[in-house]
Amino acid sequence: MNEVALGILKKIKAHGYLAYLVGGYPRDLYIGRDSLDYDICTNATPKELKEIFGDSILPTEQYGSVTLISQGMRFEITTFRKDIKYLNNRKPIEIEYIDNLLDDLKRRDFTMNTMCIDSDGIIIDLLNGKEDIDNKIIRTVGNADLKIYEDSLRILRAIRFATVLDFDLDEDLKQAIKKHGALLKNLSYYRKKEELDKIFSSPNHMKGIKLIKELELEEDLELSNLDNIVSTTYLIGIWAQVNVLNKYTFNNTEKESIIKINELLDKDILNYNNLYNYGLYISTIVSEIKGIDKKIVNERYNNLYIHNKTDIKIEAKEICELLNKKPGKFLKEIFNDLEYKLVNKLLENKKEILKKYVLENY
Ligand code: ATP
Ligand code: MG
Repeated sequence: MNEVALGILKKIKAHGYLAYLVGGYPRDLYIGRDSLDYDICTNATPKELKEIFGDSILPTEQYGSVTLISQGMRFEITTFRKDIKYLNNRKPIEIEYIDNLLDDLKRRDFTMNTMCIDSDGIIIDLLNGKEDIDNKIIRTVGNADLKIYEDSLRILRAIRFATVLDFDLDEDLKQAIKKHGALLKNLSYYRKKEELDKIFSSPNHMKGIKLIKELELEEDLELSNLDNIVSTTYLIGIWAQVNVLNKYTFNNTEKESIIKINELLDKDILNYNNLYNYGLYISTIVSEIKGIDKKIVNERYNNLYIHNKTDIKIEAKEICELLNKKPGKFLKEIFNDLEYKLVNKLLENKKEILKKYVLENY
Protein backbone atom coordinates (compact mmCIF):
# COMPACT_ATOMS: atom_id res chain seq x y z
CA MET A 1 0.00 0.00 0.00
CA ASN A 2 1.34 3.42 -0.87
CA GLU A 3 2.04 5.31 2.37
CA VAL A 4 2.31 8.71 0.69
CA ALA A 5 -1.16 8.23 -0.74
CA LEU A 6 -2.56 7.17 2.64
CA GLY A 7 -0.89 10.25 4.18
CA ILE A 8 -2.79 12.46 1.75
CA LEU A 9 -6.07 10.75 2.59
CA LYS A 10 -5.35 11.24 6.31
CA LYS A 11 -4.59 14.91 5.80
CA ILE A 12 -7.86 15.52 3.97
CA LYS A 13 -9.70 13.54 6.64
CA ALA A 14 -8.07 15.57 9.42
CA HIS A 15 -9.71 18.64 7.89
CA GLY A 16 -13.10 17.00 8.29
CA TYR A 17 -13.66 15.58 4.80
CA LEU A 18 -14.00 12.12 3.30
CA ALA A 19 -11.26 10.92 0.96
CA TYR A 20 -10.52 7.62 -0.78
CA LEU A 21 -8.15 6.23 -3.33
CA VAL A 22 -10.33 5.12 -6.21
CA GLY A 23 -10.14 3.66 -9.72
CA GLY A 24 -6.91 2.36 -11.17
CA TYR A 25 -4.82 2.11 -8.02
CA PRO A 26 -7.17 -0.06 -5.89
CA ARG A 27 -7.99 -2.11 -9.00
CA ASP A 28 -4.36 -2.76 -9.89
CA LEU A 29 -3.39 -3.36 -6.28
CA TYR A 30 -6.10 -6.01 -5.96
CA ILE A 31 -5.02 -7.63 -9.22
CA GLY A 32 -1.37 -7.39 -8.23
CA ARG A 33 -0.21 -5.00 -10.96
CA ASP A 34 1.82 -1.82 -10.64
CA SER A 35 -0.16 1.35 -10.99
CA LEU A 36 1.37 4.60 -12.12
CA ASP A 37 -1.22 7.20 -11.29
CA TYR A 38 -3.25 7.79 -8.20
CA ASP A 39 -6.83 8.96 -8.27
CA ILE A 40 -8.43 10.24 -5.11
CA CYS A 41 -12.08 11.14 -4.62
CA THR A 42 -13.30 13.38 -1.83
CA ASN A 43 -16.17 15.57 -0.73
CA ALA A 44 -13.79 18.51 -0.37
CA THR A 45 -14.12 20.99 -3.24
CA PRO A 46 -11.08 22.16 -5.26
CA LYS A 47 -11.16 25.42 -3.32
CA GLU A 48 -11.08 23.57 -0.01
CA LEU A 49 -8.29 21.31 -1.29
CA LYS A 50 -6.23 24.35 -2.17
CA GLU A 51 -6.64 25.60 1.38
CA ILE A 52 -5.41 22.24 2.68
CA PHE A 53 -2.48 21.69 0.32
CA GLY A 54 -1.51 25.22 -0.74
CA ASP A 55 1.34 25.36 -3.22
CA SER A 56 1.57 21.60 -3.76
CA ILE A 57 -1.49 21.87 -6.00
CA LEU A 58 -0.65 22.43 -9.66
CA PRO A 59 -2.12 25.60 -11.11
CA THR A 60 -3.39 23.83 -14.23
CA GLU A 61 -6.65 22.32 -13.21
CA GLN A 62 -9.69 20.78 -14.77
CA TYR A 63 -13.10 21.70 -13.59
CA GLY A 64 -13.89 19.76 -10.44
CA SER A 65 -10.48 18.24 -9.88
CA VAL A 66 -6.99 19.25 -8.87
CA THR A 67 -3.57 17.72 -9.32
CA LEU A 68 -1.31 17.37 -6.33
CA ILE A 69 2.36 16.55 -6.54
CA SER A 70 3.78 14.92 -3.45
CA GLN A 71 7.18 13.23 -3.13
CA GLY A 72 7.46 12.99 -6.90
CA MET A 73 4.09 11.28 -7.23
CA ARG A 74 1.07 12.67 -8.98
CA PHE A 75 -2.35 12.59 -7.40
CA GLU A 76 -5.52 13.46 -9.28
CA ILE A 77 -8.03 14.57 -6.66
CA THR A 78 -11.63 14.78 -7.82
CA THR A 79 -14.58 16.07 -5.88
CA PHE A 80 -17.54 13.67 -5.52
CA ARG A 81 -19.93 14.49 -8.28
CA LYS A 82 -22.83 13.52 -10.39
CA ASP A 83 -22.28 14.02 -14.09
CA ILE A 84 -25.48 15.40 -15.47
CA LYS A 85 -25.70 16.37 -19.11
CA TYR A 86 -23.38 15.09 -21.77
CA LEU A 87 -22.14 16.97 -24.81
CA ASN A 88 -21.62 14.98 -28.01
CA ASN A 89 -21.76 11.78 -26.02
CA ARG A 90 -18.52 12.68 -24.43
CA LYS A 91 -17.97 15.53 -21.98
CA PRO A 92 -20.35 16.17 -19.11
CA ILE A 93 -21.28 19.82 -19.54
CA GLU A 94 -22.87 20.25 -16.20
CA ILE A 95 -21.45 18.86 -12.99
CA GLU A 96 -23.07 18.80 -9.59
CA TYR A 97 -20.90 18.28 -6.53
CA ILE A 98 -22.36 15.79 -4.10
CA ASP A 99 -21.51 14.68 -0.63
CA ASN A 100 -21.58 10.92 -0.75
CA LEU A 101 -19.26 8.31 -2.10
CA LEU A 102 -21.82 5.86 -3.46
CA ASP A 103 -23.32 8.38 -5.88
CA ASP A 104 -19.85 9.34 -7.07
CA LEU A 105 -19.07 5.70 -7.75
CA LYS A 106 -22.26 5.31 -9.73
CA ARG A 107 -21.13 7.82 -12.36
CA ARG A 108 -17.97 5.80 -13.04
CA ASP A 109 -17.49 3.47 -16.00
CA PHE A 110 -16.87 -0.10 -14.84
CA THR A 111 -17.39 -1.91 -11.55
CA MET A 112 -13.71 -2.83 -11.38
CA ASN A 113 -12.95 0.90 -11.33
CA THR A 114 -15.16 1.63 -8.32
CA MET A 115 -13.16 -0.03 -5.58
CA CYS A 116 -11.82 2.39 -2.98
CA ILE A 117 -9.20 2.39 -0.27
CA ASP A 118 -9.69 4.50 2.84
CA SER A 119 -7.05 6.25 4.93
CA ASP A 120 -6.50 3.11 7.01
CA GLY A 121 -5.74 1.12 3.87
CA ILE A 122 -9.02 -0.76 4.01
CA ILE A 123 -10.69 -1.70 0.76
CA ILE A 124 -14.25 -0.50 0.28
CA ASP A 125 -16.19 -2.28 -2.41
CA LEU A 126 -19.72 -0.91 -2.63
CA LEU A 127 -20.48 -2.06 -6.20
CA ASN A 128 -18.98 -5.55 -6.30
CA GLY A 129 -15.84 -4.64 -8.15
CA LYS A 130 -13.92 -7.45 -6.46
CA GLU A 131 -16.31 -10.10 -7.63
CA ASP A 132 -16.09 -8.92 -11.24
CA ILE A 133 -12.32 -8.74 -11.04
CA ASP A 134 -12.23 -12.26 -9.61
CA ASN A 135 -14.29 -13.40 -12.59
CA LYS A 136 -12.24 -11.26 -14.99
CA ILE A 137 -15.37 -9.51 -16.20
CA ILE A 138 -15.70 -5.90 -17.30
CA ARG A 139 -19.18 -4.71 -16.42
CA THR A 140 -20.58 -1.20 -16.54
CA VAL A 141 -21.84 0.44 -13.40
CA GLY A 142 -25.57 0.34 -14.04
CA ASN A 143 -27.17 0.24 -17.47
CA ALA A 144 -24.63 -0.63 -20.15
CA ASP A 145 -26.56 0.97 -22.98
CA LEU A 146 -26.78 4.31 -21.19
CA LYS A 147 -23.16 4.26 -19.99
CA ILE A 148 -21.85 3.73 -23.50
CA TYR A 149 -24.26 6.19 -25.07
CA GLU A 150 -23.22 8.90 -22.58
CA ASP A 151 -19.54 8.62 -23.33
CA SER A 152 -18.09 6.72 -26.27
CA LEU A 153 -14.58 6.84 -24.83
CA ARG A 154 -15.81 4.06 -22.56
CA ILE A 155 -15.90 1.77 -25.61
CA LEU A 156 -12.17 2.09 -26.03
CA ARG A 157 -11.50 1.97 -22.31
CA ALA A 158 -13.43 -1.32 -22.13
CA ILE A 159 -11.37 -2.81 -24.96
CA ARG A 160 -8.16 -1.44 -23.47
CA PHE A 161 -8.82 -3.00 -20.06
CA ALA A 162 -9.91 -6.30 -21.65
CA THR A 163 -6.65 -6.33 -23.61
CA VAL A 164 -4.23 -5.19 -20.94
CA LEU A 165 -5.77 -7.21 -18.10
CA ASP A 166 -6.90 -10.12 -20.29
CA PHE A 167 -10.50 -9.76 -19.07
CA ASP A 168 -13.74 -10.35 -20.95
CA LEU A 169 -16.59 -7.96 -21.61
CA ASP A 170 -19.94 -8.65 -20.05
CA GLU A 171 -22.60 -9.54 -22.64
CA ASP A 172 -24.70 -6.38 -22.08
CA LEU A 173 -21.60 -4.25 -22.52
CA LYS A 174 -20.80 -6.02 -25.80
CA GLN A 175 -24.31 -5.38 -27.09
CA ALA A 176 -24.16 -1.72 -26.07
CA ILE A 177 -20.83 -1.26 -27.82
CA LYS A 178 -22.13 -2.89 -30.99
CA LYS A 179 -25.17 -0.64 -30.91
CA HIS A 180 -23.33 2.62 -30.28
CA GLY A 181 -20.05 2.08 -32.13
CA ALA A 182 -20.85 4.91 -34.52
CA LEU A 183 -20.52 7.37 -31.64
CA LEU A 184 -16.76 6.87 -31.75
CA LYS A 185 -16.85 9.44 -34.56
CA ASN A 186 -17.48 12.09 -31.90
CA LEU A 187 -14.17 11.38 -30.19
CA SER A 188 -11.07 13.30 -31.18
CA TYR A 189 -8.38 11.35 -33.01
CA TYR A 190 -6.05 12.30 -30.20
CA ARG A 191 -8.18 10.52 -27.58
CA LYS A 192 -8.75 7.54 -29.85
CA LYS A 193 -5.07 7.22 -30.55
CA GLU A 194 -4.21 7.44 -26.87
CA GLU A 195 -6.39 4.42 -26.12
CA LEU A 196 -5.38 2.50 -29.26
CA ASP A 197 -1.72 3.08 -28.37
CA LYS A 198 -2.34 1.34 -25.06
CA ILE A 199 -4.18 -1.50 -26.78
CA PHE A 200 -1.60 -1.99 -29.55
CA SER A 201 1.40 -1.77 -27.24
CA SER A 202 0.09 -4.42 -24.87
CA PRO A 203 1.75 -7.84 -25.25
CA ASN A 204 -1.86 -9.05 -25.51
CA HIS A 205 -2.68 -6.68 -28.43
CA MET A 206 -4.04 -9.46 -30.64
CA LYS A 207 -6.92 -9.85 -28.19
CA GLY A 208 -7.74 -6.15 -28.55
CA ILE A 209 -7.60 -6.36 -32.33
CA LYS A 210 -9.90 -9.38 -32.25
CA LEU A 211 -12.33 -7.51 -30.02
CA ILE A 212 -12.39 -4.50 -32.34
CA LYS A 213 -13.41 -6.88 -35.12
CA GLU A 214 -15.90 -8.79 -33.03
CA LEU A 215 -17.56 -5.58 -31.85
CA GLU A 216 -17.71 -4.35 -35.46
CA LEU A 217 -15.74 -1.18 -34.79
CA GLU A 218 -13.31 -1.46 -37.69
CA GLU A 219 -15.12 1.15 -39.77
CA ASP A 220 -16.07 3.39 -36.87
CA LEU A 221 -12.40 3.59 -35.95
CA GLU A 222 -11.43 3.83 -39.65
CA LEU A 223 -8.92 1.01 -39.24
CA SER A 224 -8.41 -1.37 -42.12
CA ASN A 225 -6.70 -4.68 -42.74
CA LEU A 226 -7.53 -6.01 -39.27
CA ASP A 227 -7.87 -9.57 -40.58
CA ASN A 228 -4.30 -9.60 -41.74
CA ILE A 229 -2.50 -7.89 -38.87
CA VAL A 230 0.67 -9.70 -37.93
CA SER A 231 1.61 -9.42 -34.28
CA THR A 232 4.72 -7.38 -33.65
CA THR A 233 6.38 -6.22 -30.46
CA TYR A 234 6.65 -2.72 -31.88
CA LEU A 235 3.66 -0.41 -31.45
CA ILE A 236 4.50 1.43 -34.66
CA GLY A 237 4.56 -1.91 -36.47
CA ILE A 238 0.86 -2.32 -35.71
CA TRP A 239 0.02 1.26 -36.68
CA ALA A 240 1.83 0.72 -39.98
CA GLN A 241 -0.49 -2.16 -40.78
CA VAL A 242 -3.86 -0.49 -40.21
CA ASN A 243 -3.61 2.23 -42.89
CA VAL A 244 -4.52 5.32 -40.91
CA LEU A 245 -1.53 7.54 -41.58
CA ASN A 246 -3.68 10.34 -42.97
CA LYS A 247 -6.41 10.09 -40.38
CA TYR A 248 -4.88 9.75 -36.95
CA THR A 249 -2.35 12.28 -35.65
CA PHE A 250 1.18 10.99 -35.62
CA ASN A 251 4.33 12.91 -34.78
CA ASN A 252 7.04 13.20 -37.42
CA THR A 253 9.08 10.26 -36.16
CA GLU A 254 6.02 8.04 -36.15
CA LYS A 255 5.00 9.21 -39.63
CA GLU A 256 8.44 8.56 -41.03
CA SER A 257 8.56 5.08 -39.49
CA ILE A 258 5.12 4.15 -40.82
CA ILE A 259 6.07 5.25 -44.34
CA LYS A 260 9.38 3.40 -44.23
CA ILE A 261 7.87 0.22 -42.81
CA ASN A 262 5.32 0.13 -45.61
CA GLU A 263 7.96 0.77 -48.26
CA LEU A 264 10.25 -1.92 -46.92
CA LEU A 265 7.40 -4.43 -46.67
CA ASP A 266 7.45 -4.51 -50.48
CA LYS A 267 11.21 -4.98 -50.69
CA ASP A 268 13.82 -7.59 -49.87
CA ILE A 269 14.91 -6.82 -46.30
CA LEU A 270 18.07 -8.93 -46.54
CA ASN A 271 19.34 -6.89 -49.46
CA TYR A 272 22.40 -4.88 -48.34
CA ASN A 273 21.16 -1.62 -49.83
CA ASN A 274 17.82 -1.93 -48.09
CA LEU A 275 19.39 -2.84 -44.77
CA TYR A 276 21.70 0.14 -45.03
CA ASN A 277 19.04 2.62 -46.18
CA TYR A 278 16.27 1.60 -43.80
CA GLY A 279 18.49 0.82 -40.80
CA LEU A 280 18.25 -1.87 -38.17
CA TYR A 281 15.16 -0.56 -36.35
CA ILE A 282 12.85 -0.47 -39.38
CA SER A 283 14.36 -3.70 -40.76
CA THR A 284 13.70 -5.49 -37.47
CA ILE A 285 10.06 -4.39 -37.38
CA VAL A 286 9.54 -5.48 -40.98
CA SER A 287 11.28 -8.79 -40.32
CA GLU A 288 8.77 -9.47 -37.52
CA ILE A 289 5.85 -8.66 -39.81
CA LYS A 290 7.26 -10.79 -42.61
CA GLY A 291 8.12 -13.63 -40.27
CA ILE A 292 11.83 -13.52 -41.01
CA ASP A 293 14.16 -14.46 -38.16
CA LYS A 294 15.34 -11.26 -36.45
CA LYS A 295 18.71 -12.87 -35.76
CA ILE A 296 19.42 -13.24 -39.45
CA VAL A 297 18.54 -9.61 -40.07
CA ASN A 298 20.68 -8.52 -37.17
CA GLU A 299 23.67 -10.56 -38.30
CA ARG A 300 23.40 -9.38 -41.85
CA TYR A 301 23.12 -5.78 -40.70
CA ASN A 302 26.19 -6.16 -38.49
CA ASN A 303 28.06 -7.62 -41.45
CA LEU A 304 27.62 -4.44 -43.48
CA TYR A 305 30.98 -2.78 -44.18
CA ILE A 306 29.53 0.60 -43.25
CA HIS A 307 26.41 1.72 -41.39
CA ASN A 308 26.60 5.35 -42.41
CA LYS A 309 28.78 7.68 -44.45
CA THR A 310 31.01 8.59 -41.52
CA ASP A 311 32.20 4.96 -41.37
CA ILE A 312 33.95 5.36 -44.75
CA LYS A 313 37.65 5.01 -44.05
CA ILE A 314 38.83 7.88 -46.17
CA GLU A 315 38.39 11.57 -45.47
CA ALA A 316 37.53 14.46 -47.76
CA LYS A 317 40.89 16.03 -47.00
CA GLU A 318 42.73 12.89 -48.10
CA ILE A 319 40.78 12.71 -51.34
CA CYS A 320 41.62 16.35 -52.10
CA GLU A 321 45.31 15.67 -51.47
CA LEU A 322 45.26 12.56 -53.65
CA LEU A 323 43.60 14.35 -56.55
CA ASN A 324 45.38 17.59 -55.90
CA LYS A 325 42.12 19.51 -55.88
CA LYS A 326 40.43 22.03 -53.63
CA PRO A 327 37.26 20.81 -51.85
CA GLY A 328 34.23 21.05 -54.11
CA LYS A 329 31.08 19.40 -55.39
CA PHE A 330 33.05 16.47 -56.81
CA LEU A 331 33.57 15.17 -53.24
CA LYS A 332 29.89 14.43 -52.81
CA GLU A 333 29.86 12.41 -56.01
CA ILE A 334 32.92 10.41 -54.92
CA PHE A 335 31.49 9.72 -51.47
CA ASN A 336 28.18 8.60 -52.93
CA ASP A 337 30.06 6.24 -55.22
CA LEU A 338 32.19 4.88 -52.36
CA GLU A 339 29.12 4.48 -50.19
CA TYR A 340 27.34 2.46 -52.88
CA LYS A 341 30.37 0.26 -53.55
CA LEU A 342 30.97 -0.36 -49.84
CA VAL A 343 27.34 -1.13 -49.04
CA ASN A 344 27.26 -3.64 -51.89
CA LYS A 345 30.61 -5.03 -50.85
CA LEU A 346 32.19 -4.17 -54.19
CA LEU A 347 35.03 -2.53 -52.29
CA GLU A 348 36.60 -3.21 -48.93
CA ASN A 349 36.55 -0.48 -46.32
CA LYS A 350 40.33 -0.11 -46.02
CA LYS A 351 42.09 3.19 -46.48
CA GLU A 352 44.69 1.93 -48.97
CA ILE A 353 42.06 0.20 -51.08
CA LEU A 354 39.83 3.28 -51.12
CA LYS A 355 42.76 5.52 -52.01
CA LYS A 356 43.72 3.27 -54.88
CA TYR A 357 40.12 3.19 -56.12
CA VAL A 358 39.81 6.99 -56.02
CA LEU A 359 43.10 7.47 -57.85
CA GLU A 360 42.17 4.99 -60.57
CA ASN A 361 38.64 6.28 -61.09
CA TYR A 362 38.77 10.03 -60.57
P1 ATP B 1 -5.31 3.87 -15.62
O1 ATP B 1 -4.96 5.09 -14.81
O2 ATP B 1 -4.59 2.63 -15.25
O3 ATP B 1 -5.32 4.15 -17.09
P2 ATP B 1 -7.89 4.30 -14.48
O4 ATP B 1 -9.09 3.43 -14.35
O5 ATP B 1 -7.31 4.82 -13.20
O6 ATP B 1 -6.84 3.49 -15.32
P3 ATP B 1 -8.20 7.07 -15.18
O7 ATP B 1 -8.37 7.68 -16.50
O8 ATP B 1 -7.04 7.42 -14.35
O9 ATP B 1 -8.26 5.50 -15.43
O10 ATP B 1 -9.55 7.37 -14.39
C1 ATP B 1 -9.70 7.21 -12.98
C2 ATP B 1 -11.08 6.70 -12.66
O11 ATP B 1 -12.06 7.63 -13.12
C3 ATP B 1 -11.46 5.40 -13.33
O12 ATP B 1 -10.99 4.29 -12.63
C4 ATP B 1 -12.96 5.48 -13.34
O13 ATP B 1 -13.48 5.19 -12.07
C5 ATP B 1 -13.19 6.95 -13.62
N1 ATP B 1 -13.28 7.23 -15.07
C6 ATP B 1 -12.27 7.52 -15.92
N2 ATP B 1 -12.71 7.74 -17.16
C7 ATP B 1 -14.04 7.56 -17.11
C8 ATP B 1 -15.09 7.66 -18.07
N3 ATP B 1 -14.81 7.96 -19.34
N4 ATP B 1 -16.34 7.43 -17.65
C9 ATP B 1 -16.62 7.13 -16.36
N5 ATP B 1 -15.69 7.02 -15.42
C10 ATP B 1 -14.41 7.25 -15.77
MG1 MG C 1 -5.78 6.27 -13.06
